[in-house]
Amino acid sequence: MESPGDKAVIAVRSRPLFAQEIARNCASVLNFPDEDKNIVILGKHGFEFDKIFCGSAQEEVFEIVRPILKQVWAGYSATVMAYGQTGAGKTYTMGTGRGKFSLDGEGVVPRTVRELFMLNAEQSAEIFVSFMEVYNEGVYDLLSAFPTRKIQARAFRDLGLQEIHVVSVEDALKRLEEGIEARRVSETQGNEKSSRSHAIFSIHIHKFSKEDETETRSLVHLVDLAGSEAVGKAGNQGSLKLEGISINQGLLALSNCIRAVIQKSQHIPVRNTALTNVLQDALKGKCMLALIACVSPSSKDETETIQTLRFAQAFHKIKSKPHIQKI
Ligand code: ADP
Repeated sequence: MESPGDKAVIAVRSRPLFAQEIARNCASVLNFPDEDKNIVILGKHGFEFDKIFCGSAQEEVFEIVRPILKQVWAGYSATVMAYGQTGAGKTYTMGTGRGKFSLDGEGVVPRTVRELFMLNAEQSAEIFVSFMEVYNEGVYDLLSAFPTRKIQARAFRDLGLQEIHVVSVEDALKRLEEGIEARRVSETQGNEKSSRSHAIFSIHIHKFSKEDETETRSLVHLVDLAGSEAVGKAGNQGSLKLEGISINQGLLALSNCIRAVIQKSQHIPVRNTALTNVLQDALKGKCMLALIACVSPSSKDETETIQTLRFAQAFHKIKSKPHIQKI
């Protein structure tokens, strides 16, 4: 199989300004000078990406994922992730939130399910799903009978996650809903933690070739990352401090892995954190990734928005000038 030239797509999506923000005199700090050029301006700073979405429909955003799924179908593994501060639109973009959407409103996860089942029209593959939450360096299997039971770190190599065989789009979406509900229930037992945990819905493809009787396995991880505002926040105490450290380390380790993947490095440093550990099977070898950095246009969020744009632009720069940047 031919290798796709570009291993990563780095995109930015701005959510609309909310009515409450307009009512509180928050203006948009983001400018999009030329739709075709994929440039966003914030104050004196200009940022360029592979793709910028502003006022875009869910369907348009999915267009950057669709080609990656073709490669997943052909045997590659992939990670599609939404990064950004809480409230910037990660869950909306991925479609891992509560409540049913119309087909138009569906996010990346349900669209990916539909696309993969369409590719499997001839039923040449079996499709499995798993759904986990990573919180405070612990992993939780949202599709198991005990979604609040922590899987110990030492077991990360073989998580023993439920990989559930699904036979239709509806079947897969039912599992997605079950996992979302399990996440919600576990939240009511403690405090509101969904913005401080990573949710990872994974679709596993076991494809059979009748010609040479071989089986190819590939997968796609669809990741709704924890809110990036925890990064760099000092001063929290107790469990909040631990959470902050864990999110910090996870996102930092993830960014090191993304760099290494883009640079086609032999060594991908996956072992440092729970997040990179559980994603490792799709960060090595024949793999691709998409990062959708979600931002708020509101003046009240300016600092976080700059941080997110810088985080994402660093990868775009490595893509453009691979010989200058080193890990
Ligand atoms: P996050 O997951 O980053 O915390 P959410 O996805 O929950 O943020 O988004 C916060 C709110 O903004 C939600 O009410 C969501 O429906 C809304 N929202 C986010 N992005 C968009 C968008 N592109 N278009 C319309 N509403 C959006």
